[in-house]
Amino acid sequence: MTFLEETLGFIDPPVKQNESIKKHTTIGVGGLAKYFATPKSLYALRLLIESAKAHKLKHFILGKGSNVLFNDGGYNGLVISTERLQEVSVYNGKVKAMCGATLNKVIDFAKSRSLSGLEKLYGIPASIGGAITMNAGAFGATISDVVSCVETIKNGKLCKYYKSDCRFGYRKSRFINSKEVIVSATFDFINQAKELIEAQIKCQKDLRKTMHPMGKSFGSVFKNPNCQKLTAGQIIDRAGLKGYRIGGAMVSSEHANFIVNVKNATAKDILNLIYEIKERVYKTFNIELKEEVIIVGGFHDFNC
Ligand SMILES: Cc1cc2nc3c(=O)[nH]c(=O)nc-3n(C[C@H](O)[C@H](O)[C@H](O)COP(=O)(O)OP(=O)(O)OC[C@H]3O[C@@H](n4cnc5c(N)ncnc54)[C@H](O)[C@@H]3O)c2cc1C
Repeated sequence: MTFLEETLGFIDPPVKQNESIKKHTTIGVGGLAKYFATPKSLYALRLLIESAKAHKLKHFILGKGSNVLFNDGGYNGLVISTERLQEVSVYNGKVKAMCGATLNKVIDFAKSRSLSGLEKLYGIPASIGGAITMNAGAFGATISDVVSCVETIKNGKLCKYYKSDCRFGYRKSRFINSKEVIVSATFDFINQAKELIEAQIKCQKDLRKTMHPMGKSFGSVFKNPNCQKLTAGQIIDRAGLKGYRIGGAMVSSEHANFIVNVKNATAKDILNLIYEIKERVYKTFNIELKEEVIIVGGFHDFNC
């Protein structure tokens, strides 16, 4: 039986073939995924992964696609989007969210129950799975501040990690580049008046409007170097790169740590721009910038 025939038995909607990845990433770049699936249950998710393994297909777990760069040549395997795994619930003050729920949805859900904890992250266009993997953060807060535990599928079995086992660090966790799939996360929130939570959310919305460029991007491309007082954005700006453009990809003139897709950028344009930024910053300041963005398949897959 082929992979597609086998999956028909347990997944609805059926697995798609040759799906455009650019539709599923915030930078709007990426070729075709050989197979693309949106499971609605953990059962289907687990069987999909098993089936891909049995058919020797590689797979990639995609959240909201806000921190990933796929090759123009596409992905010769199965992309599993978590977009239909959205449930959020509350028990004893703890909020549990499935991997595909967005950060904003979880924060709004908590607010409706007068629970506070993640408001500073409001507006990050992330799924819970992606935010946990990257330990997403903003304005001095990170998602790991309020994580109680994370559930994953590992080798076909459910696993549970308490916060101390998740190896959270600056934009990293044990789940980056691992074979595990995060299925849910549980958060310790505190009681707070709805009006205060709402005021904090409004404040974050306003801040993001003024600080972040519009248009297609991944947010920050590079991590802030830990040995520097300056942010990656300030360093790139001082290297004179604001507005620098390769093909359809440009260093934002508003925020130098953002690359924006200004006109049909290709993955190759973006990767060449990343190289150029790194080289100029290294030559000018002897600082090695490291990517925050996940380059799917690694640099060697891109053939730049
Ligand atoms: C306009 C804009 C603003 C941004 N602002 C911020 C910000 O303030 N702070 C910040 O930290 N980031 C920011 N980002 C970057 C991005 O939103 C975060 O890194 C976010 O956490 C990525 O979540 P995602 O769901 O989009 O993950 P994706 O981009 O889909 O995936 C990222 C990584 O997580 C993995 N992954 C996703 N889901 C799972 C899962 N269920 N199980 C296992 N692995 C999984 C993927 O395989 C991939 O390796 C911004 C991005 C944009 C476009």
